[in-house]
Amino acid sequence: MRVLGIETSCDETGVAIVDTAPWEAGKPAGMGLLGQALYSQIAMHIDYGGVVPELASRDHIKRIIPLINQVLKETPGGLEDIDAIAFTQGPGLAGALLVGASVAKGMALALNKPVLGIHHLEGHLLSPLLADDANINFPFVALLVSGGHTQLMKVTGVGEYTILGETLDDAAGEAFDKTAKMLGLSYPGGPAVSNLSKTGNPSTHQFPRPMKHSGDLDFSFAGLKTSVLTQVKKVTAANNGHLSDSAKADVARGFVDAIVEVLVSKSISALKQTGLTTLVVAGGVGANEQLRESLAQSCAKEDFSVHYPPMHLCTDNGAMIAFAGAMRLKKNPQLATKHWGFDVRPRWPLDDLE
Ligand code: ATP
Ligand code: MG
Ligand code: FE
Repeated sequence: MRVLGIETSCDETGVAIVDTAPWEAGKPAGMGLLGQALYSQIAMHIDYGGVVPELASRDHIKRIIPLINQVLKETPGGLEDIDAIAFTQGPGLAGALLVGASVAKGMALALNKPVLGIHHLEGHLLSPLLADDANINFPFVALLVSGGHTQLMKVTGVGEYTILGETLDDAAGEAFDKTAKMLGLSYPGGPAVSNLSKTGNPSTHQFPRPMKHSGDLDFSFAGLKTSVLTQVKKVTAANNGHLSDSAKADVARGFVDAIVEVLVSKSISALKQTGLTTLVVAGGVGANEQLRESLAQSCAKEDFSVHYPPMHLCTDNGAMIAFAGAMRLKKNPQLATKHWGFDVRPRWPLDDLE
């Protein structure tokens, strides 16, 4: 089965074609990723320090058809070989989601093929299965750390997700982005804060580790953000209104150490509490080097295994949507939509899946 996937939930237009043949033959599912293209709007939103929803939707309209054409051209076979279309139905920006939904449903109607709305987080969650060396079996614990979400989940199969804990306020990626803003770094802040932190002194700032010992699997990052702001103001005031590059690096280091420690500690607790031994990390913050290093160490100590998506599939992309669509349709062809209206779900809890 060959599935065309379309992602337009936020500021990335993603298109990909996935074939399930290798996966069905017991080979790595990633071998079935036949073609993909991605356009990131980051440069357009940079001046605003974040994503402007109206600009995002308009840009998706401009990019989506050329991207689909590009992927079709680069993939062996053509439109006639596509068996189904999957698109991100939510959560995300309503206007942005509508672009992907309209194009997907329009194509499906024209081609007389099934079309399926995918939960964006399910896409992130299953994306580690696309890694070349993926040797991941259900059940596993998933740590989903993205720009809008921070959740620990128990995954027992495709479509079977139980939320074990989640953030009560900011998402981990959001905390990175806000810290970057306070330090005058570029958007999105994750990579910038991460790089700068490498030259920082780990003992200059001891930021709180929010909820590390709360006993549950929830997170909270709003207080950490406030502590960062307080320190930034303090150091700036003590230096006559100036924040040097090395002072910024020290703050970044303190922040990264704190957030990584909490994410790792809760992930290990989730594994112990569920009795599972496999951890899967997905979402943009999963690209973070410090998080990967620390998880590798802690998991090795407990004999847990930890898996990630290929680096380029950590942030939003069409491949994860095509793949999630293929897995869902394989499991249950009845899931193809019967609704031809453009019904997107900007807010959509992951445990509310069909
Ligand atoms: P959601 O999936 O929750 O709707 P999103 O799609 O915007 O949100 P992703 O694309 O998965 O989120 O990830 C983007 C986030 O990942 C941003 O907040 C960004 O700062 C963060 N990020 C990306 N690379 C890194 C990194 N190396 N270290 C830390 N954070 C990172
Ligand atoms: Mg994004
Ligand atoms: Fe995302």
